[in-house]
Amino acid sequence: SPPRLPALTLSGLTVRFAGLTALDGVSFTVEPGSVHAVIGPNGAGKSTCFNVLSGVYRATAGSVRLGDTELTGLAPHRIAALGVARTFQNLALPPHATVADSMLLGRHRLTRAGFLASGLGLPSAAGEARRHRARVAEIAEFVGLAGDLDRPAGTLPYGKQKLVELGRALCMEPRVLLLDEPVAGMTADERRRTAAVVSGVRDSLGISIVLVEHDMGVVMRLADTVTVLDFGRLIASGPPARVQNDPAVVRAYLGA
Ligand code: ADP
Ligand code: MG
Repeated sequence: SPPRLPALTLSGLTVRFAGLTALDGVSFTVEPGSVHAVIGPNGAGKSTCFNVLSGVYRATAGSVRLGDTELTGLAPHRIAALGVARTFQNLALPPHATVADSMLLGRHRLTRAGFLASGLGLPSAAGEARRHRARVAEIAEFVGLAGDLDRPAGTLPYGKQKLVELGRALCMEPRVLLLDEPVAGMTADERRRTAAVVSGVRDSLGISIVLVEHDMGVVMRLADTVTVLDFGRLIASGPPARVQNDPAVVRAYLGA
């Protein structure tokens, strides 16, 4: 069979901030339906990489493609509309909204009638709003929040709030999901549960995932491929077991 196009292709991606090179000619591909972890010490450029992929930062040089579509230089909402969804390192949920309404925000780009019409209760919008609510309920079930749909998201335990954010991103029906430290701050139980949801996103939904995560247990269990950044440079990329034993990676983490 012909080789499949990578879900994402990063080519020579470079980001400079006044005198500091946060990303330095980074190239790798994310294979379709895989989890690709990006790891590295603090300041290595992981969040910068996410911010370029989602259009928050503009690359100084290099390019990003989604399948065969050029993303370089597009605004965040255009990149999201093309199918790249992200979650944030710190929670970004509206404080008083219910879980259902928080997740419904993820449907925005898929809504033709628009939320104004559905808010006004126009008959043309009613059917569409019902379909979106049904999909939100399915995704809530998938991430384990079926019993929490009507609760204010801000009152849930931290681990569940992070799952609401993941659910909201899934509600965008993305082709690629960018997860920035999805298990940070979670209890061991919440970590296990989240890791199971993330592998389900890959295996059942077939979504490609880029995962920035400090928890090496989670990275080694979930990732099909691991890319290691250090001072903005790619120093290793490959299967987790190989990368873990790469001398350059060991050096970067030990600071030797
Ligand atoms: P990581 O997420 O791997 O810890 P970051 O991508 O956040 O690393 O940061 C990489 C480097 O770029 C750091 O030295 C950081 O201080 C710098 N940096 C990140 N964002 C900005 C910015 N908006 N302005 C200036 N420097 C930045
Ligand atoms: Mg970071």
